[in-house]
This record gives sequence, structure tokens and C-alpha cells, in this order.
Amino acid sequence: MENPRDLECDLKNMRKYYGIGKTKEITWRESQLKGLRAFLMEKEVEIFKALKQDLGKHHVEAFRDEVGTLMKSLNFALKSLKEWMSPKKAKLPQMALLSSAEIIPEPLGLVLIISSWNFPFGLSLEPLIGAISAGNTMVLKPSELSSACSSLLATALPTYLDRKAIKVIQGGPDVAEQLLQQKWDKIFFTGSARVGRIVMSAAAKHLTPITLELGGKCPALLDSLSTSWDREVAVKRILVGKYGACAGQACIGIDYILAEKKFTPTLVELLKTQIKKMFGENPKDINSIARIVNKQQFSRLKNLLVDLKVKASIVYGGAMDEDNLFIEPTILVDPPLEAEIMTDEIFGPLLPIITVEKIEHSLEYINTRPKPLAIYAFTKNKTLQRRIISETSSGSVTFDDAIIQYVADTLPFGGVGESGFGNYHGKFSFDTFSHMKAITRRSYLSDFWFRYPPWNDKKLQL
Ligand code: NAD
Repeated sequence: MENPRDLECDLKNMRKYYGIGKTKEITWRESQLKGLRAFLMEKEVEIFKALKQDLGKHHVEAFRDEVGTLMKSLNFALKSLKEWMSPKKAKLPQMALLSSAEIIPEPLGLVLIISSWNFPFGLSLEPLIGAISAGNTMVLKPSELSSACSSLLATALPTYLDRKAIKVIQGGPDVAEQLLQQKWDKIFFTGSARVGRIVMSAAAKHLTPITLELGGKCPALLDSLSTSWDREVAVKRILVGKYGACAGQACIGIDYILAEKKFTPTLVELLKTQIKKMFGENPKDINSIARIVNKQQFSRLKNLLVDLKVKASIVYGGAMDEDNLFIEPTILVDPPLEAEIMTDEIFGPLLPIITVEKIEHSLEYINTRPKPLAIYAFTKNKTLQRRIISETSSGSVTFDDAIIQYVADTLPFGGVGESGFGNYHGKFSFDTFSHMKAITRRSYLSDFWFRYPPWNDKKLQL
């Protein structure tokens, strides 16, 4: 990290640059979005390499979750930008006769984006798309834990963008804390609730608005589903929503399953069969499952299984290879609810199944815990679907699939309660990095005498 004086000087220059209005021009915004797109296209191989190095992600998974998804978001932003930026007419009440109103989005100014390591490109560049589209200047601080990816972002990305307006700063908590001491017009944070609290108190000092994209335990309710086809598809989607997205190190990854007790033996067999089909008898050799990010996270996950009662609940997998930071897809049935594996976010390839007598009882289970970022429910029962929507609270609800909500430009992506607040993606990203300015215009042609003092009851009767 540069010394604090240099940082302050850089930020001052960025504010000055913002002041001349360049970043507000649509041509500037388009050119930066195109620059981002060129970075993804020209550096695709390096991106795949960095993701392999940091997280052992297969390049197909890396394309699906990062490069491909970002390209889609960029194309959508480029197509929609003019419409997003255009003033929107608003109605005024009759008492404001002969007037007109509109809402004009204006950029916030200088914004800070702090991101996480599990989707190092997606979680850094998706907010960047919003900040650029809205016409801001910005500093991005990616996570130090995905160091190859952060280094690529810091060295290669700026060559595609306007360096006077967009800066990438590498570093860990000390650097983040130094950045948080500065005055920003918005802080967009992706990470843990623990650090989210630090960000929020730092932001309070300058009354800086923030978005917190946090995590939590995302449940998947699995009804017994009537046909074998439905069951097979549901199980495949659950496995991809767990092990197939950065080996379970995903904020919207499935944390645990809720299923009826009588259906659980069948479910376990279905899961085992499909795990073998997707990841083979020796998943470590097939390379279709990512690695744990580092030894610290590996030990944390290993420790979740140390408890004897938790260990006894393992019905599949459990093998670990510390040297290769590999953990086998693992299934547990009814680990103790007070064990850490059921109280903390797992963030790894361990999949507990919690059994309930009736699937409807899952709602009570969910409602007595912090509000999750996502709830998944595999069920054709329309009444249950309606009840999940109306009786639970979460960032999103997805029926009969997992993770797909992340790729929707038309849906707000974000949490509620412990899983965060604010949202982004598509137009929601643009709004997140904009101020909606209210403009009213009034004519002199009409005026009402009763709106002015001196007051008397006659004026009230009109
Ligand atoms: P983290 O909170 O440890 O780190 C996130 C960022 O904060 C990193 O850039 C890190 O350098 C920085 N940071 C760390 N300590 C800091 C401090 N003391 N002060 C200021 N900044 C600090 O989280 P993580 O390990 O990167 O990610 C895991 C968590 O993030 C999980 O809870 C996961 O669910 C959540 N997450 C949420 C989303 C989402 O979109 N909602 C996406 C990915 C991860």
C-alpha cells in the first residue's frame, strides 16, 4: 500500500477529475464498459489461470460463474445505459397545478468497492459495472486471499480503463482499514458480517451510504417429489448449488438441506449416485471441484467435523487432503443442531441434511434463525410455495433450482437482516451507485392565494 499521504493525494485528484464531469458523459461510461469487456476477452486465459491457482477452479466453471456471467452483465449494461440515464417523468398532485417533475439520476462521486475471494472477478467487476454505468470515480480493493486474481486485477485491468477515474488497490485488512478512514460517497462491501460491522461503523463517521453483501446459511427444502425424473433433476441442481459453485464457498451456495425423515434414506442414495456421476469415484482426480482457498479455511472446515457427534452423522465422504486443500463432497444426516456446523455458515463442501417430520415444519426451522441470503425449495406443492414466500424472509427465494438468481439482470441481488442490505445487478446496480435527484418546475401562470399567510379558517375550508 502506498503511504497515507499518497493515498489522500490520489483520492483528491480523483475527486478533481470527477469534478470536471468527464465520468458523467455517456461516451465515457460506454468506453469504460467496453474496456472491461476487452479485459475479459483478451485476458481470459490469464483469468482462468489465476482462478486455478487461487481456488483450483476448472476453467469451465470459471467461465460459467465469472467471465461468462460478467460478459452477459456488461452487454446488458451497454444495451440499457441510455435508458437508465434518461430522466424519468413524475406526476405531481393537483395543488401544484401547471408544473412538471422528473427524476434525474446523478452519480454519487467517489466510491469504494471492497470484495471477497470466492468469485474474485465476479464480485469485483459486477459492482464496478454499476459504479461505471452510474458515472462515478472508484477504488476497488479485491481480497488478498485470492492473490493471483487480485494481482491480475491490479496490474492488467487499469490498462483497459481510465486510470484517472478507476483505481485498483491490493491489500488485506490493514489496507482496507486505511481506505475506510477516508471519506467516500458510497461504500459497497462484499464479505462477512463481522467485517460488515467494521465497514458500517467506519462509514458512520462521514455518513457514507453503504451496501453490505453478506452471507449466512442458505437452506434448500427438498420435498419428496413424485417422479424419479423430478428427483434426479432436483438432486443434480442441489449438488451444483453446493459442490459445483467454488466447492461450496459461495454466499448463495446451499448450506444445508431440509427433508422429510421418511424420504431421507432415498435422498442420500440419490445424492451418492449423482455425486459419483458428476465428480467420479475419486473427485480429487477429476478436477471438477474447486479447492479450499487456504490452510486457515481448510482447518476451519476440518474442525467442523471434529465433534464426535458430528463425525458420527457423516453418511458419505469426509476425506480431506490438506496438502492439496481438497475436501471430498461430504453428506451428513442430522448433525447436532447446536454444533458449529449448524450454527455458522459452512462455506465449504459439507452438506448436512436436517430431517423434519413434515416438510412444512421447515418453515419454523428457518424462521427461528437469521434471515438467509437465499432460500431454495424443490417442491411442486403450490401451497407450500406460497407459504414460503409469505411466511419467511430472505434475500431471494428460488423454486426448483439453485444459484440461477445470481445471473438475472432483472432481479435485485442482495440480502436482508443478517445477510446484508442494499442490492445490485442490472439496473439495481446503476441505482445503487446513483442518487435519484428530484426536479420540479413550476409555472407563474397560476397561483393560489390560500397557500400564503396570514392564516384564517376560511383558507382551511377551501
Ligand atoms: P471477509 O469479510 O473476511 O473479507 C471481505 C473483504 O474485507 C476482503 O477484501 C478483506 O480484505 C476485507 N477485510 C478483512 N478484514 C477487514 C477489516 N478488519 N477491516 C476492513 N476490511 C477487512 O470475508 P471473506 O472471507 O472474503 O468472504 C466470506 C464471507 O463473505 C462469507 O460470509 C460469504 O457468505 C460472504 N460473501 C457474500 C457475498 C454476497 O454477494 N452476498 C459474496 C461472497 C461472499
